Amino acid sequence: MSKCQCGLLEKQAADPRIPIAYNAESDSYSLELSKDFTVPDIYCLHCGGHDLRNRHHDYPLCRCGKLDQWAKNPALPVRFYFKQNTYHLFLKEHNRVMAIYFCPACGGGTGLLKKIDQMPRPEEKDMKDIMQRLRGLTTIEQVIQILGEPDKRHGPMTSPQQEKQIYGIKDTKQSLIYKFPAKSLMLYVCQYEDDTLGFSFSGIIEKKLSFLKKIKYYRYRIKKYLQRFNIILWQYAPDTPAEKLLCHHKISRKIIYAASFCMISSMSLLASAFIFDSEIEGMIAALLGIIGVLLFIPALFCWVWASEIEKTLKQRQHPLPARLSLEKSIPFWALQMMLWFAGLVILASILHKD
Ligand SMILES: [Zn+2]
Ligand SMILES: [Zn+2]
Repeated sequence: MSKCQCGLLEKQAADPRIPIAYNAESDSYSLELSKDFTVPDIYCLHCGGHDLRNRHHDYPLCRCGKLDQWAKNPALPVRFYFKQNTYHLFLKEHNRVMAIYFCPACGGGTGLLKKIDQMPRPEEKDMKDIMQRLRGLTTIEQVIQILGEPDKRHGPMTSPQQEKQIYGIKDTKQSLIYKFPAKSLMLYVCQYEDDTLGFSFSGIIEKKLSFLKKIKYYRYRIKKYLQRFNIILWQYAPDTPAEKLLCHHKISRKIIYAASFCMISSMSLLASAFIFDSEIEGMIAALLGIIGVLLFIPALFCWVWASEIEKTLKQRQHPLPARLSLEKSIPFWALQMMLWFAGLVILASILHKD
């Protein structure tokens, strides 16, 4: 199977700013991620060797986990952007970011293409209507005469001569962006260096994060922050036996449960200590509270650790049963904690009845 069908791999190998090289001996391409780490025989980052004209084809997703592994290594230029849930190649010295659509190691999709396919697309009829109004126009002034002032103007945008030659692109003198909210589409008008015009459309993209996505985003930030303090703990070798992972997952689960039970019990006992003015309950509450607080930091680390294990197991096609998975059992866990809290309060009120 060809590792690139779109032809971009060949062009990128000719581009000195991109660390992709062609090796004539093996007739393959390689990606240099650092001075001493090169990925041999890569798939095209843009097409993964698939025929992209067939947009409804279901591409297999990347299961090798290499991108994830590289993104965790700060020495390598692969980054994971949580907000977009995508991987990028960060070419710092050239001030350039390249989106990764397909995993260079296994050719599996990163989900970015599917995401783009799911983006709102303008209606064929609406695009035709607008193009009808612009028919025969050859200058940017004529476009403004018909459509009025644009919502945004960009440009000029120039590219180095070498890049223009490699990719066959033109400089733009300016580009105009028109929003048509009623039709939920945007029109881009480009004035190229040779004064020809180019028109393209896109759907209007809603950039707001949903409430759930926001929570997930902050959770991700906390995890990412905690990972800084631990670079060894969750770097499992590919041949680490699954039993070991499951055992570590069990330990972290226990610590998380212990911390939350201590804290919930402490809160519940504190409540009844105040209500019934009971010293003994106040003392137990304080003791459990201290244990809970002491366990809180390890529990936080365990939470990151456990979710890393869950991710690793999933990549190995060996997912954890739902009842053990921390991610999936959050509602169940919250319910348990609430019941425990309520149970203790009820118990206290029965004991203090007289
Ligand atoms: Zn390609
Ligand atoms: Zn992969």
